Amino acid sequence: VVNAVKFIFPGISENERTARAVVSAFLVQLDPTVEELADIRTAVSEAVTNAIVHGYRKSRGDVELHMKLLEDREVYLRIKDHGCGIADITQAMQPLFTTAPEEERAGLGFAVMESFMDKLQVKSAPEKGTTVTMRK
Ligand code: ATP
Ligand code: MG
Repeated sequence: VVNAVKFIFPGISENERTARAVVSAFLVQLDPTVEELADIRTAVSEAVTNAIVHGYRKSRGDVELHMKLLEDREVYLRIKDHGCGIADITQAMQPLFTTAPEEERAGLGFAVMESFMDKLQVKSAPEKGTTVTMRK
């Protein structure tokens, strides 16, 4: 590990923007291309938004954003919440699947994470929370 930070914040919508800013600040040391930075910011943004709008729909809690810079410019990211969890992860990750169509959610967050990052892993347990890990 070349460098690592952990940022813990309340899961409220104002912090979607805060999380994006923190990602950008951390990645400056990589001297990323505009595209690399946009891809990673977007992927983190989708995961953080999910934690806030879905995970903490009926409860309140913190979101943890763990970022690591590894050898060979590899970036590791972990977004964790302690919210409601996901009952069926395979179904949740299907493009266009959403449990919030009335909020005009497209069901594309996981598809975006998958396409912008090289690896995506989702772990979740009902009433325990959700952890998304990504690498690029
Ligand atoms: P979009 O991201 O396009 O606005 P969406 O959030 O519904 O729509 P995804 O991000 O792909 O789509 O997530 C799919 C579904 O997985 C969500 O509708 C929700 O039911 C569930 N989900 C995702 N992340 C979490 C989470 N952190 N906690 C609980 N449920 C989640
Ligand atoms: Mg989403």
